[in-house]
This record gives sequence, C-alpha cells and structure tokens, in this order.
Amino acid sequence: MTTIVDTDLLSDLKKFGAADVSACFSCGTCTATCPLSDNDGTFPRRMIRYAQVGMKDELLSSKELWTCYHCGLCSDSCPTEADPGEFMAAARRYAVASYDPTGLSRILYTRPVIGSLIAVAVAAFFAVFMYASHGPQDAAALTLFDFVPEELIHWTGIAVMVVMVIAGVVGVVTMARGVARREGITLSSTLGGRAALGRSVAALWSSLGIESVGQRRYREDCKDDSPAEPLYRRRWLIHALSIWGFLGLLGATILDWGLALTGVKETGTPIPLWYPSRLLGTIAGISLVYGVSMFMVNRARHINRAAAQSTASDWLLLILLWITGASGFFIEVALYLPDAPAWGYWVFLFHVAVAMELMLLLPFTKFAHAMYRPVALFFFALAKDKSKQTA
Ligand code: SF4
Ligand code: SF4
Repeated sequence: MTTIVDTDLLSDLKKFGAADVSACFSCGTCTATCPLSDNDGTFPRRMIRYAQVGMKDELLSSKELWTCYHCGLCSDSCPTEADPGEFMAAARRYAVASYDPTGLSRILYTRPVIGSLIAVAVAAFFAVFMYASHGPQDAAALTLFDFVPEELIHWTGIAVMVVMVIAGVVGVVTMARGVARREGITLSSTLGGRAALGRSVAALWSSLGIESVGQRRYREDCKDDSPAEPLYRRRWLIHALSIWGFLGLLGATILDWGLALTGVKETGTPIPLWYPSRLLGTIAGISLVYGVSMFMVNRARHINRAAAQSTASDWLLLILLWITGASGFFIEVALYLPDAPAWGYWVFLFHVAVAMELMLLLPFTKFAHAMYRPVALFFFALAKDKSKQTA
C-alpha cells in the first residue's frame, strides 16, 4: 500500500470535533486503560499517530476505528489532554463523511446552521408533498390513509428506501474495500471453497449475532459506568433498546405491509393491540422512545465526557428518532379515542414526513455506524481466525 501524506488531515479532523492531538507523545496510557485494547497494544494511539503524520488512507481503512464505544476512559487518563476518546469519535465522523460521495454528511457534521436548515427544508418538503395530494378528513372515524393516500406513502417510501440503500451500499463498499485491501482479504479467501465459506459464516455470526445484536463487548468489556449505574441507565442497554426499537418499528411496518399485500388485512383498518404488527410496533416504539430519551437526557446533563461532546448532527438524529417514535404513539392514541380527533390527521402527516426524512438521512448521520461497525467486526473475526491458523 503506497502511503500518501495528507497534510490537512489533522486540521480537517478538528472540524469534526477532534481535540488538538499534536501533543500526544504515544505514551501508551490510553492503550493501558482502554478495555478493548487486546491485540497488538497500539489501540487507540496508532489512530492518533496516523492523524499526526497525515496517513489518511491508513486511518480510513482501519477496522479498529469502529470498535471504540466512546466510553471516555482513555481521555480521563491522558496526560496531555489529547482526548483520544473524542478523537476516535471525530475520526468516525470524518470516515462517514469520507465514504459519502455526496458531501451531505460533511455538511451535517461541520456546518451546523446549514445542516439544520437542510433538515427543516427536507421535512417541510415531504409534508407539503404529501399534503398536496390530501383527501378528506372524516370526522366520524380516523381514515388516515384517505387523508394522505396510501399509494403516495408507499411509493414515496420506496423511493426514499432506494436512495437510502444506494447511499448505504456505496459507503459500505468503499469502506470494506479499503479494509479488505489493508488486511489482505480477498473475495476468494472469503467465498472460495467450503472452508473459506465456513470461516466467513462464523465471522458473520460473530459480527451480527454476538456483537451487533447481543452487544457482548459493550456489555462485558466497556465498563464505563463508575460507580455502577442501575441497569435501566446503563449505556449498553440504552444503546441496545434504541437499535432494537428502531429495527422493530421497521419490522412492524414491513409486516403490516406484507399482511396488506397478502390480503390478510387492509392497511389502515382498525386492529386490536395484540395484533402481531401492532404489538411489535408498540413494544419497539416504547424501546426506541425510552432509549433515545435517555440518550438525550444524558447528553443534556453531560453525564459523561462522550455525552458532553455532541455535534448538531448527533442531536438531529436523536430528535428525528424521538419524533418518529413519539408521534407514532400519538397516532395510536388518536386511533383508540372514541371521537376521531382532528389533530390525529395532522400528527399523522407530521409523522410520515419526519419518518421519510429520517430514512433518507440515516446513511449521512451517526446512524451510519450501524452499517460500518458490523463490517469492521466481520473483518476482526476473520483476522482473529487467520492469526489462530498461523499460530
Ligand atoms: S493520547 Fe494521551 S494517553 Fe494516549 S498515547 Fe497520546 S498522550 Fe498518551
Ligand atoms: S473511548 Fe473507551 S473504547 Fe474508545 S478508545 Fe477510549 S477507552 Fe477505548
């Protein structure tokens, strides 16, 4: 790998929130403190070294970038105030922006005023677009899909999903190609033959099942709660509830759509609380609103070093997630009220507009780590397996 030195790397990283790491003299205290430093004893200070000497490609192709949980333990112990924990977070923001060819992610992270204006404009666009085709408001029963036509929501949702998937795939492929080249992993070494396939499946299980869904390292290794917080306030649980809640809501929407497609029920018809898609949606919604509310409270209270250094883009993501979850509950309440309240229609329009915006912006915000982290963990598992074989 030819090394190209980028003399602007350090100043660019500062725009994404990194502290002045030029004072870091690679003492290794952060490495000794970090609960995840279990490989060659250079994590996380090697990342800082890359930034100091302008090794942009090496930084962006480091799978280690995505393993950090931003607990802040390393920052508390750093003798030079280089704030390595925040540096790692800033480097991840920088990486998300670098994998995004549109430049939107960079604007959201580094230009908070313009980013906020874009966010408001996107939500307003979806609301006006939906309202332009609105139908009547039935005062006897909430006929939400007569007010905002189901077909319009369906096809707008598909278009938003296509943009989201394309943006996500472009980012993940860019990231994965860089890491694979760096690690010497090729398509044939992951898919060529039964043994290689077996190793890849095991790595996939470790990455998606054990780590991403089970949050094993977050739960066991990253003990940042000191003194220990009660379970309902632990960071890993708040994080897990937010992710599971979001995925559950997505699942409930797809399930509802599938039931309508197969003729089991019509979209928008009243269903009891125990109905599978409604039950899943309700439980997932509670998880999401609780998790995101706790994240917001912790950030507002600066409960730890990580929470104290939020960017406008981080807040935007939390606000969009919260509004989507909470407005969904208001719609549910409106549906069960005896006299169809007129406000139910407006909350529904607002909910649909914000949910569309959320889906559209996901690959450009902090949520993108939900795509990059499993890929990095997949490469970690493969590398671990490789080192076992050569040992
Ligand atoms: S970031 Fe701080 S603790 Fe880590 S190596 Fe540099 S000076 Fe030492
Ligand atoms: S923030 Fe925590 S997980 Fe990340 S490098 Fe520092 S000590 Fe390790």
